[in-house]
Amino acid sequence: MGKPKVAIYDFTGCEGCELQIVNCEEELLDIIANIELVYWREAATISPDGKTPVDCDIALVEGGITTPHDIERIRKIRLKSKILVACGSCASFGGINALKNDLPLDEMKHLVYGDMAQHFETIPAAPMRNYVKVDYELPGCPMVKAEFLKFFKWLLLGKDKWELPRYSVCIECKRKENLCVYDKGMLCLGPVTRAGCGANCPSFGAPCEGCRGLVPEPNVNAALDVLTEHGLSLEDAINNLKMFCNAEKPVATLHTWTKK
Ligand code: SF4
Ligand code: SF4
Repeated sequence: MGKPKVAIYDFTGCEGCELQIVNCEEELLDIIANIELVYWREAATISPDGKTPVDCDIALVEGGITTPHDIERIRKIRLKSKILVACGSCASFGGINALKNDLPLDEMKHLVYGDMAQHFETIPAAPMRNYVKVDYELPGCPMVKAEFLKFFKWLLLGKDKWELPRYSVCIECKRKENLCVYDKGMLCLGPVTRAGCGANCPSFGAPCEGCRGLVPEPNVNAALDVLTEHGLSLEDAINNLKMFCNAEKPVATLHTWTKK
């Protein structure tokens, strides 16, 4: 059988999810010992050619699709990879990149590139799954180290079924007996956000900002009611939800302040 060939690729993102792999300091040598790493630009001392995807058993792919070139490249990577894993929120459901989708593309390009805007091609930010079959998604901005390690071990052992939690961050938060941040006068997106982070932010007294995306079948209207009952305007409540989830259907269809 041999060791599985693993390639790690990046698209549009901050590379924080790849950094989470680097951050597996204690486990990294064990991981490397059990795989054949065939491509990883971020961790290489000499930058290899990432334009030609390599044959691999597992492709870990970070970042979102935001240019026509990205579409072409992710399709090539898919053809060369037996298993494709979307790592992080940009890759899994659009994440923070999708904030740009509310502005006309030309206006957005000008804001970012100024006078050089005509030299850059861009398309609305989208997750991998919009263009290729994705086998697994590991949401989070960045993806959760503990979840990645658990998943990767599961993958290498060839176990049966991997599923993300289908419940909200509030469940994990309550299990930890945290004081709800609403009781401290803050606002939180935990009720509609997919669990799996161990309610990391509320456990440190900070609100959940929804970086893992929406829980399946979220009650977005109820979330907006709670946010507005606690003092936000409807516009600000919608924008809160949009920060990470603007490419997710129940949020993408909400009216936004940026649309004229
Ligand atoms: S999901 Fe977050 S941490 Fe990961 S690449 Fe995107 S912006 Fe960076
Ligand atoms: S702090 Fe946030 S995640 Fe925790 S219980 Fe309150 S609303 Fe839910």
